[in-house]
Amino acid sequence: MSGEKTIFKKIIDREIPADIIYEDELCLAFNDVNPQAPVHVLVIPKQEIQSIAHLQDSDQALAGHLLLTVGKLAKQLGLESGYRTIVNTGKEGGQTVDHLHLHLLGGRSLHWPPG
Ligand code: 5GP
Repeated sequence: MSGEKTIFKKIIDREIPADIIYEDELCLAFNDVNPQAPVHVLVIPKQEIQSIAHLQDSDQALAGHLLLTVGKLAKQLGLESGYRTIVNTGKEGGQTVDHLHLHLLGGRSLHWPPG
């Protein structure tokens, strides 16, 4: 990756504030600034990886850790009735921040298919 830091890298580096709800050595989770559900958390790797399309075989453990973290946070947040996990990838996938992130949405009935 080159050029200017993404907004999420700035959050990792504590250059801009975020409502951080979880952190460990590999990832960070914080509330989305524009929530689409009562619970809308973003889980991101601390490592700068642009998207799913940029994951390498060597990122296997990290990718698994991100998913496991979503599951643990959902449990902690009381989402027993269910939740949705979304990873937008690339321009046509609706990705607006070029730093891999998993959306965790819940707290209401979610419709399918999404728009
Ligand atoms: P994407 O569209 O790339 O899948 O999702 C990016 C998400 O990041 C959006 O849901 C958007 O609301 C959120 N977001 C963008 N800028 C910020 C920010 O500065 N802080 C937080 N907490 N969320 C942000």
